[in-house]
Amino acid sequence: MQDLYHYMNGERLNGGSGRFGNVFNPATGEAQARVPFASKSEVQSAIAGAAEAQPAWAATNPQRRARVMMEFVRLLNRDMDRLAEALSREHGKTLPDARGDVQRGLEVVEFCIGAPHLMKGEFTDSAGPGIDMYSMRQPLGVCGGITPFNFPAMIPMWMFAPAIVCGNAFVLKPSERDPSVPLMLADLLVEAGLPKGILQVVNGDREAVDALLESPTVQSIGFVGSTPVAEYIYAAGCANGKRVQCFGGAKNHMIVMPDADMDQAADALVGAGYGAAGERCMAVSVAVPVGDGTADRLVERLVPRVESLKIGPYTAGEDMDFGPVVTAEAQQRILGLVESGVAQGAKLVVDGRGFSLQGYESGFFVGAHLFDHVTTDMDIYRKEIFGPVLSTVRAQSYEEALGIAMDNEYGNGTAIFTRDGDTARDFANRVNVGMVGVNVPIPVPLAYHTFGGWKKSVFGDLNQHGPDAIRFYTRTKTVTSRWPSGLKEGGEFHFRAMD
Ligand code: NAD
Repeated sequence: MQDLYHYMNGERLNGGSGRFGNVFNPATGEAQARVPFASKSEVQSAIAGAAEAQPAWAATNPQRRARVMMEFVRLLNRDMDRLAEALSREHGKTLPDARGDVQRGLEVVEFCIGAPHLMKGEFTDSAGPGIDMYSMRQPLGVCGGITPFNFPAMIPMWMFAPAIVCGNAFVLKPSERDPSVPLMLADLLVEAGLPKGILQVVNGDREAVDALLESPTVQSIGFVGSTPVAEYIYAAGCANGKRVQCFGGAKNHMIVMPDADMDQAADALVGAGYGAAGERCMAVSVAVPVGDGTADRLVERLVPRVESLKIGPYTAGEDMDFGPVVTAEAQQRILGLVESGVAQGAKLVVDGRGFSLQGYESGFFVGAHLFDHVTTDMDIYRKEIFGPVLSTVRAQSYEEALGIAMDNEYGNGTAIFTRDGDTARDFANRVNVGMVGVNVPIPVPLAYHTFGGWKKSVFGDLNQHGPDAIRFYTRTKTVTSRWPSGLKEGGEFHFRAMD
């Protein structure tokens, strides 16, 4: 079995802690590699290498830093298929979906090419007699990032590309479930001209995360993953005086109004609910049809679509709808939640529990499930399932549907399907959720806008990518400057307004 490595100072480094985790091929259930779990001292040496390399990188002019990103984009396009194959092999998602994972990261790298413009400061000429005032955006130094398994290309790029282009060094701790693509990205960045040490990849578990949190050298922490871990990292990072942004779990509702195009709504729900086996933080996991007539019409259309979804390994061809879930534990947890839904009285209108694929019996596949008559007290509603399970919660009015989405503890994404502009506008204005779709089921903003939820889906106050990323990875310094003549007049003892 292959042993993976850390990536430090431009070199591949074997793990020295003696601790490893298995990396599976979810389609076959086989362990295909071992990933080393870094010790505290290994993380500390990655941080030290980053700190040594960072000042020269920060002093490199921003246009040159942007050119590294330009070349990185070219290399990502060159190696798209190789990256997608490695990603599918460890994650399980289909190849088109894996290419989308790389592509959505690449688009943030493209956005970062504009950093010289985005980092420009502010200047006030003659703020007082002979006095100019200007603000600059300077890098933080060494930044840390901890990423989840479900987008092993996109989310690391969302973090390290803006951090690096702003002149920081970055220490990434990717998910231990699918670490190969982040390691490949580090290789490509060095090939693109990034100085060694500016991107360090340390693999590991909580020990590595805690080493990042405890290091006085690390100035900021970005985290994406589940809410309990997000809360822990936010609290620990803030207590250690770091700038922290943590993005957590989700439960995304799609409201379907009686006037919606029901076929369009059903198509949207199937893609958004079951794509990537439901392992997306922006997956729609709850459909909220308004009125029993709407619910009946919607469910009637959903059932045949859900029953005919094609589930298989990424090697089975590009027309597969989704693949296995990431681990045997995830598979068992999802099936356990399905059982709880049945036990608590929800109606399982598409039952995927018997799903099995010849030749892949040991793979971590979960069939597609559709529940109707789900109520908000059930576990399948309250918990993030992160699997191919869509719940239908029937509402009797628009206000009730809006209230259901608003009362949920998560606030990542939501959508409304309607032909009525007034209803859509009211929904977009009032709902307490960070990303809203109008007849768009997965409203993931493009790279030049920002991505982030509300409520328990986020801890911290700046979003990912877009202009917020430049703000997060820089700090402002404001200089007030006065040149010669006035200074000759002697000291000044009063704190003056600039009048
Ligand atoms: P996870 O929280 O289990 O792991 C995320 C990262 O944290 C990994 O690198 C992991 O090694 C590390 N980690 C796990 N337990 C830890 C602990 N106790 N202490 C310190 N570090 C720990 O999440 P996951 O299963 O990899 O990803 C799925 C979750 O991520 C879902 O909840 C999903 O909604 C969420 N997610 C959110 C967004 C968003 O932008 N809001 C995007 C993608 C995924």
